[in-house]
This record gives sequence, structure tokens and C-alpha cells, in this order.
Amino acid sequence: MGTGSTPKGVQETAPKLIVLGWDAATWDLLSPWVAEGKLPNLAKLMQSGSYGSIRSTSLPVSPAAWSTIITGQNPAKHGVFDWFARKEGSYDVEYVHTGQIKAKPVWSYFNEAGKRIGVFNLPMLYPAVPLDGFMFSGLAAPDAASSGFAYPAELIQELEENVGPFWHAETEVYKYGREDAYLENVLELLDYQKRVVDYLVREHPCDVYLLVFMQTDHVQHKFWRYIDPMYPEYDSGYDAQFQDAILQVYQGVDEQLGDLLAAFGDDTNFVVLSDHGGGPVHGIMYINRWLHEIGMLHLRDDISTRAKFWLAKRDLIGKAYRIVSKIGLGKVANLVSKPARNKVLNSFMSFDDIDWTRTKAYARGAFGQIYVNQKGREPSGIVEPGTAYEQVVTQLIAALEKLPHPKTGEPLITDIYRKSEIFNGPYLENAADVIFSIQNYLFQSSVKMGLDSESILGKSEYEDSGSHRADGIVVMSGPGIAEGVSISDASIADILPTMLALAGLPVPDDLDGLPLSQAFTESQKHAIKFVSGSSDSLDGTTTPNLDDSELTEIEDRLRSLGYLG
Ligand SMILES: [Zn+2]
Repeated sequence: MGTGSTPKGVQETAPKLIVLGWDAATWDLLSPWVAEGKLPNLAKLMQSGSYGSIRSTSLPVSPAAWSTIITGQNPAKHGVFDWFARKEGSYDVEYVHTGQIKAKPVWSYFNEAGKRIGVFNLPMLYPAVPLDGFMFSGLAAPDAASSGFAYPAELIQELEENVGPFWHAETEVYKYGREDAYLENVLELLDYQKRVVDYLVREHPCDVYLLVFMQTDHVQHKFWRYIDPMYPEYDSGYDAQFQDAILQVYQGVDEQLGDLLAAFGDDTNFVVLSDHGGGPVHGIMYINRWLHEIGMLHLRDDISTRAKFWLAKRDLIGKAYRIVSKIGLGKVANLVSKPARNKVLNSFMSFDDIDWTRTKAYARGAFGQIYVNQKGREPSGIVEPGTAYEQVVTQLIAALEKLPHPKTGEPLITDIYRKSEIFNGPYLENAADVIFSIQNYLFQSSVKMGLDSESILGKSEYEDSGSHRADGIVVMSGPGIAEGVSISDASIADILPTMLALAGLPVPDDLDGLPLSQAFTESQKHAIKFVSGSSDSLDGTTTPNLDDSELTEIEDRLRSLGYLG
């Protein structure tokens, strides 16, 4: 198909490609809605193309998963494992940003081949990087006024003039009992972003688009309880009012898909996918409390810590905390100063209360992740690398395997791995040392000690009733895609190679994924070209320069969504 005049490896005739991300979309919800005719545009795409499930990263956290989607590599090769990364030589964290992505990203592949790419709203991208096309930051960016939010920067003003005041993250915080305000806010942002995307694809044409909507994930985190009669506090009367909340958001993104189908027609390849699936959540596990109980984590023995421990045991701090959380942590930020807020949060046992000189392991994050307090890596690490480290990991895994659900007595922990079993690459050291799910993600985790809770299981502090699952969705349709293939064994690492193959570009053979050729037409299959390893890494020159208020803004947003644990 290629002619002598086209750049090396590029087909002049390659159709346009649109990859649409519906964060956390799951067939558990979509299949029945498609069957009932509630998502007509997705149904159309499924009928004309192929679809199936797609496996997320072994830690199904959005920044890790989307980084795998744009690099074709597992997290130990791109370096992003969560919304935050350990700060070198400290127990503090740094929030995710573009500079943390160490593997070659999708825009470099396309730009090097002379193709323009438009990238919109990937949650871990901030700041935007210069490229041929456009890029908008996502959820981990402070706000649109911050420098580096978009590339080219003038696009923000252009959107303000043509679409309306720019915003990129919900401004309301969800609260049971005042659902309307949050849901309206989510739908309003979705409508705005839909108009932004429609404008961008019309006014700033590219060869390839990667466009992400996060409202699907956010609404599932907060509104799953209204469709889950098994939710511990399910109220069939009240909750029925909001049983269509999640569906409303999917109908919004489906309508947006309809706009794109109408604008681009049949000569464009479409991929609709999620970075991970979704499912119900019934509470959280206080992993640090459990580590304390089994003697792996020790608290400082000074008076203030002992006083807090005493108060917490008598539920005094617990009461204060519940009052604070009634108005939502996002609002606390506006009511009290940062030091005062930190004081409140710290009162519930923070990392400041941990005696690192006696602690072998600690937990962090919203999913099951335990870190060994390793000598030479953690600032006050005590576990020697090598045999001693392996022993601690083995002990932790054995104890997790035996841990019963405090009420039912059934095994609580599922899918337990040491990091080297699920990740491989130069950034493996940045991963948690033991990774697991709690009853197949029915429970999230909290970094807090939860001393006011009856057991190691408690209620979600951010009123989450939904969370992630390992399997997401993938739907493909277009000139390069076969009809009626049921896609199987797909991984999100397959998306970058699939995009390259559909655009007629060579696919490096050192990626962790492969083109999803099972869903390709015969001629598209034959056109796949592999090249030997050219997925060279990116040097991280895009570290954001954030001030305190911007950092607080990012932290509050991620925290209110329950992403920080
Ligand atoms: Zn996600």
C-alpha cells in the first residue's frame, strides 16, 4: 500500500483514528443497557465492529492504567503506579505528573511519523507537553489558569471565547442526602467537555485523537449504592430516586460518541475503551491498623501519640472526625487553614505517629499496597534488602492469606502478589512490595489507623460505594476492523500497538502489548509491520512547578474522590 513518496513506514491512505476513553466503564452495566436500547451509539459501534473485555494493569488505578495505554508498557517500564509516587529520601509523596512517565508516549510515535495527535483529559497528564496537535491536562492539574495546562496554551482562551469558561474538574463534593448538587455538577461538566471535544475535532483537525471522559468513573464511585441492594446501608425507598444517575452519565458519553460518529463517518477507525472496570464497594480496610496488630508497624511512644491513641480508643477523636466529614473534606479546605486542617487529619494517626525505627512495613493508597520499610530506600528504613526483605514479604503474604473477614470468617484478601510477579522493568523499585485486592475490590483501603472502627474493616470515608475492577471494555469499529469478532485476552498494553498498526505505523517489538489483530480485517492484519525495539524512553523534563495552594487543590480533589486512600 505504501508508495515511494510517503515517509518511511507511513501509509498515506491510513484512515483517521479516534480512541475514546470512558474511564472505569464495565460490561456489567453496559451490556444490559445496550440490550435495552439505552446506548444507541455504542450499540451501533458494536454491531458494525468487534468488542470484548480488556484487562487493566494489575493495580487497576487510573494513572497507572492510562500510562500503560499510552506507552504499551507495564508500570515498571513507564514508572507510574498510582496518583502519587514516593518522594526520594522521604515518607512524603509527590502527585502524579507528565514527567513521571518514563516510557515513550503515543504522541511521540505519531509526531515522529508526521501525524498530528489531539490528546484530551488523560488524568495523569500535567503539564501538557509541546507536540504537533493539541494536549489538555486532566484531573491531576490544579486548574486551567495554571501555566502548562494546555498546549498550545492559547487554546484555553479560544475555548473560553467559543465554548464557555474553561473548567476541567467537578467543583461540588458528593454527599449522601444532597446528591442532586453533585450529579448536576458532573453532568454539567460532561456537557461542557462534550462541547469542547466537538469544537476541538472540528477546528483543530488531527490524524489521531485520544479523548478521555472521567465522569463515568466519578459517578460510579459515588452512585453505585443506588443500584446495589447489597450495599450495607441500602435504602430501597430513598435510593431509588438516583438509580439512573450512572446511566445518565453513560447516555451523555454515548451521545458524544454519536456526535463523533456523525462528524467522522465510516472511514474512521474508532476504539472505545476503559482503563479498568468498575463494581460495588462496601467499605474500607485499615491496612496500617492490621500491620500494627501483627507487629509489623509500631506507633511512636511519645505522649501526644499515646494521648491520641487513648482518645481514639474512646471514640472521642472519632466523633470529631465524623463531624468534620459530614461537611465533606473538600469544604473543610475552604473553612479552615491548611495547618488547622492538617492538625485535624493528623489527629487520626498519620505517618508522623509511626515509629519508623521499629516498623517493617506500612500501607499507602486506596488499593491493597504494602511497602517494606527498606534500609537505604526509605529514610529510616530498617529492613535490609535481600534475604531480610524477602522474609518480610513472605511473612506478609502468609499473614494476608490467613486473614479472615471479621464478620463472615471467609478469606478477606484475594490476588496477593509480590511486585516482581506482576511487574517488570527498570522502575520496579517504585512499586509497592506486596499488592493485593480486598475481597476482589469490594473493599478499598485507607492509610489511616481507623482506631475508632470496630474492626479492621470500616465505612468509606468519602462515601464511596463503587470502585474499580480488573476488566474493562473495548469496542472497535472502522475500515480496519472486522465485524462480529468477540475480542478475548486483550490487555490495555495492547492499545498503543493497536493504534500504531491501525495508523499504518511500525510497531516496536519491545512493547508489553501486541496489536489486537484478532479484530482486524484480513488486509489490516497483513499490513502490520514490526520493527526491532524503538520504544526508547522519554527524558522527564516536564516536572510541574506547583505552589502550596495548587498542591492543596490537587490533594483535596483526589482525596474527595477517595483516590488517596
Ligand atoms: Zn480510571
